[in-house]
Amino acid sequence: MTASELPAPGSTDRTIVRRLAEKTVNDRAAGYSILDAGFVAHVSVADESGQPYVVPVGYARDGDRVLFHGSTGSRLFRGLADGQATCLTVTLLDGMVLARSTFESSMQYRGVMVLGTCSVLEGADKDSALEIITEHLLPGRWAEARHPNTKELAATLVLALSLDEMSIKVANGPPDDEDDDVPRPIWAGVVPLRESFGDPEDAPDLVAPYPVPDYVTAWRRPDPA
Ligand SMILES: Cc1cc2nc3c(=O)[nH]c(=O)nc-3n(C[C@H](O)[C@H](O)[C@H](O)COP(=O)(O)OP(=O)(O)OC[C@H]3O[C@@H](n4cnc5c(N)ncnc54)[C@H](O)[C@@H]3O)c2cc1C
Repeated sequence: MTASELPAPGSTDRTIVRRLAEKTVNDRAAGYSILDAGFVAHVSVADESGQPYVVPVGYARDGDRVLFHGSTGSRLFRGLADGQATCLTVTLLDGMVLARSTFESSMQYRGVMVLGTCSVLEGADKDSALEIITEHLLPGRWAEARHPNTKELAATLVLALSLDEMSIKVANGPPDDEDDDVPRPIWAGVVPLRESFGDPEDAPDLVAPYPVPDYVTAWRRPDPA
């Protein structure tokens, strides 16, 4: 299936946004740009007793799938590798919304939720997935850093989750106060929240005064569109 043939975000029975449905976005490209702007996904998995866990992972989008990796020794990752149903979310926090009432106070955000089961990547697909994840999180690094050796590859489980079934929710408006609250004599508005990189810090064991690579000094976090 091509991206255009996949179900629209929020169009299946279990992904229709019901609460605050006006915040739903059905444009797959908008969801992909949220995924491309994020670094951390939260992935659900249950252990043998049924206890649910939500595991944060670094990830990358590759076409119509999300890629992430973990240890082959992790029982939680093995559950995902064995085909356990999962839910993956990515949330970008854009601001704090201060209404006149605490009830209407909220946050500005862009979020994606993906439902499905993971597949385990092997061979060339596994190698290229590790490059894609590295280049998403650390653009420019794959060309310079040592690549995983056989032992490291054996210890690494690489998983792909298809973006077939997903939903998108975006909150980007000002406070939405009750009419009765608007005249209250307090400030109301939005405080934007932005992520940024700080100044690079040398590793203490750097063997020579290597300069910070240009590809690192070029890293920027995008503002919300
Ligand atoms: C930063 C942030 C803070 C939030 N804080 C709160 C809070 O304090 N209290 C609160 O009640 N809610 C909060 N939300 C919203 C929350 O994520 C849910 O959307 C909301 O609770 C409704 O859940 P529901 O299961 O009743 O929604 P329903 O509309 O019944 O969910 C139906 C379907 O909509 C989709 N969906 C629901 N939520 C999201 C989402 N966030 N992103 C993408 N798809 C979604 C899923 O596919 C889900 O299966 C917050 C969201 C974000 C991103």
